[in-house]
Amino acid sequence: MLTRVLKTDKHRPSKKVLQEAAAVLKSGGLVAFPTETVYGLGANAFNENAVLKIFTAKKRPPDNPVIVHVSSMEMLNQVSTSVPRRAEKLIRELWPGPLTIVVPRSLKVPPVVSAGLETVAVRMPAHNVALGLIEHLGSPIAAPSANLSGRPSPTNAKDVYEDLNGSIDMIIDAGETFIGVESTVIQVSENRSVILRPGPIPLEILRKYLGDVEVHPSILSGGFEGVPASPGMKYRHYAPRADMIVVEGDDYERKAAKIVETVEEYLKSGLKVGCMVSEETALRLPGQVMLEALAPRNRLDLVARRIYPALRSLDRMNPDIIVAEGFPEEGIGMAIQNRLRKAAGYRILKA
Ligand code: AMP
Ligand code: MG
Repeated sequence: MLTRVLKTDKHRPSKKVLQEAAAVLKSGGLVAFPTETVYGLGANAFNENAVLKIFTAKKRPPDNPVIVHVSSMEMLNQVSTSVPRRAEKLIRELWPGPLTIVVPRSLKVPPVVSAGLETVAVRMPAHNVALGLIEHLGSPIAAPSANLSGRPSPTNAKDVYEDLNGSIDMIIDAGETFIGVESTVIQVSENRSVILRPGPIPLEILRKYLGDVEVHPSILSGGFEGVPASPGMKYRHYAPRADMIVVEGDDYERKAAKIVETVEEYLKSGLKVGCMVSEETALRLPGQVMLEALAPRNRLDLVARRIYPALRSLDRMNPDIIVAEGFPEEGIGMAIQNRLRKAAGYRILKA
């Protein structure tokens, strides 16, 4: 299959591009498009066959549900029969934005979208290309991240192309995404709210609107053994090809020292070492490492933006081992830590 790449402006997308892309979706094809978080791989959410193609193209396990993207409240009411009152408040305050809400699924949504669950995950993206595409299609778009299953999510069109060229119909190239990590996923019912995936909307903000918010135990601890509330939880994710280890600790000096020491040991044993660390730590590392300096360590927003491109860049340099710096778990830091730990398959070194 030939994958067409159409360029457009991220703030003011061309009508012609949106029309062409919507036509592909209408005929049951797949289009990768930018959102504010990462690039998504979209299909018409009401077309079961089209949604099945997403799983094939990504090699995604069929028991991992995808998120449905809407551009209006009408569309939300088409995909869910009963939105809890508590969710309405979140929607009013935080949509469009990087917050996915898990609510009861309407029969209009084919079960494949939700991997057979009675619920559906919905969000309204804050990106003019994504919103424009949904509007032009006139239906919600089912879209997981536009990477091969298990690989780091794409934050630009080139990364989508690297994974999916030849297996999807079209990529809309509108440059880099704004945030760089996937949306927060929260399950909301009348009396309980549980974060299933940490993301750009932090726990602190959700607590402000909902009061009591639980964090699913799988997020902060290591490998998860229980029945997953969200099937995506059980897979190794976001992973580079090399083995990876995350060095964590509350005290920055101790952490940085541990990183340097670990790197030197690996180098001494003859390994090619990749590093993904803050700019401050980067200055302390020996010259032989394959280096990805993310951002100043107190700029977690910039760190979040750099994680996936850095993992992909390290992959291209082909190290034997990647040593990554852990970050504080506040704000978007919880999402950063969750992605790093998953990418490392929960290999964590405490400093
Ligand atoms: P991705 O689109 O690749 O960012 O992955 C979507 C993620 O959203 C899945 O891995 C799940 O964690 C979550 N998700 C989607 N639908 C549901 C649902 N109905 N219930 C719980 N979690 C969901
Ligand atoms: Mg994904």
